[in-house]
Amino acid sequence: MDECHFCESVGRSDPPEGGWVYSTDRFRAYALPAVSVPGWVVLHTTRHAVGLAGLDEEESRELGIGIQHLSRAMTHLCDTPKIYMFAMADRVPHFHMMLGAAPRTSPGEEGGAALLTRILMKDPTLRDREKSLMVAQQLRDLLKPPM
Ligand SMILES: [Zn+2]
Repeated sequence: MDECHFCESVGRSDPPEGGWVYSTDRFRAYALPAVSVPGWVVLHTTRHAVGLAGLDEEESRELGIGIQHLSRAMTHLCDTPKIYMFAMADRVPHFHMMLGAAPRTSPGEEGGAALLTRILMKDPTLRDREKSLMVAQQLRDLLKPPM
């Protein structure tokens, strides 16, 4: 069987570069190196579960609450009016989705599907690994439960 990047990620004892933005028994979120767009993270199940249909009830409940918390923190941190989300369940046998800051756009400016296409096509003008890791760290600090 091919190696599973997300299983490797879950099994590691040290956090990924930029740290876990969100980490529970069921889900993890972090700044995915393959994306590296500041303000964008991947959220994935810790176990193999293909698509939303593959989630159990507990995962489904946590997903709803988890993406709400992530979205609120990301909206605040990235000073954006909303958070884009997409999930395709391709290539990796874990439910996973990307969440990221929607740009502030004026009528006629690029956003929505055009931006998602550029992210998926790895547009180098959107990528900034250092800033992506910095935003991930800030998100993690924002989501950290109070001591
Ligand atoms: Zn896996």
